[in-house]
Amino acid sequence: MKLNPVTIVVIPHRKEKPVWERSFSPGSFLILLSLLLILFGGGVFFAHFYFSHTYQTLKLKRLSEENEILKERLSQFQERVQELDLQLAEITQREKSLRVVADLPEISPQVREVGVGGEGGGAPDLLFFYDEETARQAKRINFDLEKFIRQAKLEKESIAEIWKSLKNKKYLLSHTPSVKPTIGYITRGFGMHIDPFTGQLKPHYGIDFAAKIGTPVWATADGRVGNIGWDKNGFGTYIEIDHRKGVQTYYAHLSKVEVRIGEEVKRGQLIGRVGNSGRSTGPHLHYEVRINGSPVNPRNYFLPENIAD
Ligand SMILES: [Zn+2]
Repeated sequence: MKLNPVTIVVIPHRKEKPVWERSFSPGSFLILLSLLLILFGGGVFFAHFYFSHTYQTLKLKRLSEENEILKERLSQFQERVQELDLQLAEITQREKSLRVVADLPEISPQVREVGVGGEGGGAPDLLFFYDEETARQAKRINFDLEKFIRQAKLEKESIAEIWKSLKNKKYLLSHTPSVKPTIGYITRGFGMHIDPFTGQLKPHYGIDFAAKIGTPVWATADGRVGNIGWDKNGFGTYIEIDHRKGVQTYYAHLSKVEVRIGEEVKRGQLIGRVGNSGRSTGPHLHYEVRINGSPVNPRNYFLPENIAD
């Protein structure tokens, strides 16, 4: 098929004659058309490139500003982290003194380091940083925070241990005989003595306090009344109090009992009255401290008042 030539005519409105007119062979026309298309396509492409470039530049500028703000925040964050470090150091110092009070061994610096130090098990590089300094700062903060978490955990454990120890200590202190059971002067101490009834050398397993009949007798520590009765070996009316495991006190020659078996008593509580019951040469209190059933010198259990609670 033969193609006809193509004529392009430009006709202005309200004019009788065309201003511009040109004929093209089909081949030339196609070339012209292609050129126009390329020109148009190129225009669109460059326009797109230009606007997209402008947009990217703007975006980059905004991101860069944002980055500056974030960097500043990071620095502020680091300051706060340093503050946390100081606070934690103070807590650790107090915890160390509390361990001394609680009679607990010092935590070795090595253990503290294991609990606290180390390279943090390699904190993951969560972000890619263009700026190395920022990367270092972010990594440092991450490392510090990991350290603080471990440090806080160690403190928590140590304080729990201190609490337990102090509670035990308090229990031990309140349940350990530490005062005199009555007023009155000591007429016989702990050890070998000549029995006034037989004249023979005999061990005396307690301390005797001479006092008037009816003088109050107090529990020398917290505990539970284990037994009340009449001692056939000459101690007359007695009270036995169980304190803590294996520790017991014994009050004898009483005239009156003010507690019942099984009753919980506090240190300083009235439990009975001085008397002359049993084999006795005069009104007095016979007082014993026993550890696992064996009498020990009660004198060692008269502590200065400011030690007992
Ligand atoms: Zn005695």
